[in-house]
Amino acid sequence: AVRIEGLCKDFGTTRVLDGIDLDIPRGKVTCLIGPSGSGKSTLLRCVALLEEPTDGYISINGDPLGFDRGPNGARVKLPARQIRKVRSRIGMVFQQFNLWPHMTAVGNVSEALVTVRGMSRADAEERARKELDAIGLGARAGHYPSELSGGQQQRVAIARALALDPGIMLFDEPTASLDPELTGEVLNVMRRLAESGMTMLVVTHEIGFAASVGSKIAFLDHGRILVEGAPGEVFAKPREPRIDQFLETYL
Ligand code: ATP
Ligand code: MG
Repeated sequence: AVRIEGLCKDFGTTRVLDGIDLDIPRGKVTCLIGPSGSGKSTLLRCVALLEEPTDGYISINGDPLGFDRGPNGARVKLPARQIRKVRSRIGMVFQQFNLWPHMTAVGNVSEALVTVRGMSRADAEERARKELDAIGLGARAGHYPSELSGGQQQRVAIARALALDPGIMLFDEPTASLDPELTGEVLNVMRRLAESGMTMLVVTHEIGFAASVGSKIAFLDHGRILVEGAPGEVFAKPREPRIDQFLETYL
């Protein structure tokens, strides 16, 4: 499980995350929804250690992430080596697929296994092919990103993250730049991943997915969690007016 406590993030004098408390239960899907600019990506990027929080604590299965409580209550930054170790348990998938254009699907999935994990090229490619098979892209293993549809590219990006055996997967609007007919294949891969027991934190505007796959929904507004609960609680009427407004935009 991931535990977020009192998380704050300032950009200059602007407070973008304003005291976030959130538990992300192990083996479940937690969905983060909310209006544009409410801080969803920033929260995900803090969990991925791509942003340094201004205040607060994050832990994964009890291990502090980035900062820990020192003696006499001080907030202490952890050594880089420890940060790298905990970070390696986190997989992230972005709206933009961020594949390397000059590498095939197998190349994209195997690269970090060689450079980060120190696997031999042959072992890494074998592992990559297994990951691609698992998401139905075995036949496209030798294709370059430009030869793949957006949905296929995003599935390669998911395979690339999964190849590193993360304990938790973070998704930031993974289907937002896909045509509607390609969204389903990516959501299906995510649904199967959820069924396999992966711990997931998903920022999404796909309310149907959030309601059916999410075990917990957190609604973020102006850097605070306004409502949090099971989909039945968060979406049931009568609803928080801000959620009604949000749903009108995205349903
Ligand atoms: P969207 O739904 O549009 O993706 P979001 O909920 O993901 O929005 P964030 O990207 O987290 O929102 O941004 C929250 C606020 O923080 C916004 O006002 C944004 O302009 C600001 N912000 C984000 N990143 C930075 C940065 N690097 N420097 C300054 N301000 C930033
Ligand atoms: Mg965002």
